[in-house]
Amino acid sequence: MFLSELPTPCYVVDEALLEKNLKVLQGVMESTGARILLAQKAFSMYRVYPLIGTYLCGAVASGLYEARLCAEELVRPMMERERGGRHWENHIFSPAYRDNDFEEILQVCDHIVFNSWRQVEKFGERARAAGRNIGLRINPECSTQEGHAIYDPCAPGSRLGVTKENFEKGLKEHGGEWLFSLLDGLHFHTLCEQDADALERTLDVVEEKFGMYLSKLKWINFGGGHHITREGYDIPKLERCIRRMQQKYGLSVYLEPGEAVALNAGFLVTTVLETLHNGMEIAILDTSAACHMPDVLEMPYRPPLQGSAQPGEKLYTYRLGGPTCLAGDVIGDYSFDTPLKEGDRLIFEDMAIYSMVKNNTFNGMPLPSIALQKKNGACELVKQFGYSDFKERLA
Ligand SMILES: *Cc1c(COP(=O)(O)O)cnc(C)c1O
Repeated sequence: MFLSELPTPCYVVDEALLEKNLKVLQGVMESTGARILLAQKAFSMYRVYPLIGTYLCGAVASGLYEARLCAEELVRPMMERERGGRHWENHIFSPAYRDNDFEEILQVCDHIVFNSWRQVEKFGERARAAGRNIGLRINPECSTQEGHAIYDPCAPGSRLGVTKENFEKGLKEHGGEWLFSLLDGLHFHTLCEQDADALERTLDVVEEKFGMYLSKLKWINFGGGHHITREGYDIPKLERCIRRMQQKYGLSVYLEPGEAVALNAGFLVTTVLETLHNGMEIAILDTSAACHMPDVLEMPYRPPLQGSAQPGEKLYTYRLGGPTCLAGDVIGDYSFDTPLKEGDRLIFEDMAIYSMVKNNTFNGMPLPSIALQKKNGACELVKQFGYSDFKERLA
């Protein structure tokens, strides 16, 4: 099957583009010895976990279900394939763990990162007894981004990570020796789609505030938000940041990008259902911003669309919207060389990340199919969804 024959709407991940990103990440690992993990919350298309596992060291989960997915679809198949030798890691971070989940988390995860000293106190001894690596997420209170306040874990009032003040308060209250006996590493995640200069500034602050504790530890995790595979990202600067922590403190360094793994590696193929005119040309597609690309509305951003330009740049400008009842279910305004008509197929780009993992069936919208485009150009339709996927999550 070729892309032009796929049922729409359909997410298509391009294996060659994914592998191109993985090779960039592998280059960073090879030149520095850092370990890079997939943040599954951005991209959980487990059909390609064996490909991802060929390059990366494992994955990180935001909760039990993603941790199970990594255990079943990445760690197990990779271990079966390799039989000894390499080890794939399963990491987890959650702002607060549930008692009910913790036993299973202990079984599948190697690294468990806590969000407060209270959580270390509550679960740390069990994690230690199970031989797990234990981390604490810190909040360096160093905002490096403007514009996207909801993506800034360093904003005032943040619930994510332990500030220097709370870090030291905990050490006083619970005894530093006991807490450090439970702790293997520190984790921070403060970036979003950023370059290595923001990481460098963050590391300055991490050192200033937490530097005196670093040599007591085994590893540091730089979190995600590193746009490593974006054109123009300063990889040598990233590598200097990694080496600095390795050489100065003897730490192993982890990175857990989500976006960078599948950046620009996927598409959302859609069909024009109808065109209308109301002061401007409008096209209704069989895909919805609200249901199938919620970040377009949440972030918000304007996804690239193949063969189109900014409104007014080409001869025919359309507002592209979805088939839901939401007035704001609008993907954006785009211009084209020729008028759009019913049945035309449009291809939105950069639709692998934060798309399939966030979609929903609001309005009873069908979920897009999921396909994989192979290196020879052929597409494999990996999964199709139907009425039961809508009904099964309601009662
Ligand atoms: C979101 C997140 C990531 C991945 O972030 P990207 O922006 O997709 O690279 C990694 N680690 C943690 C803790 C996160 O919350």
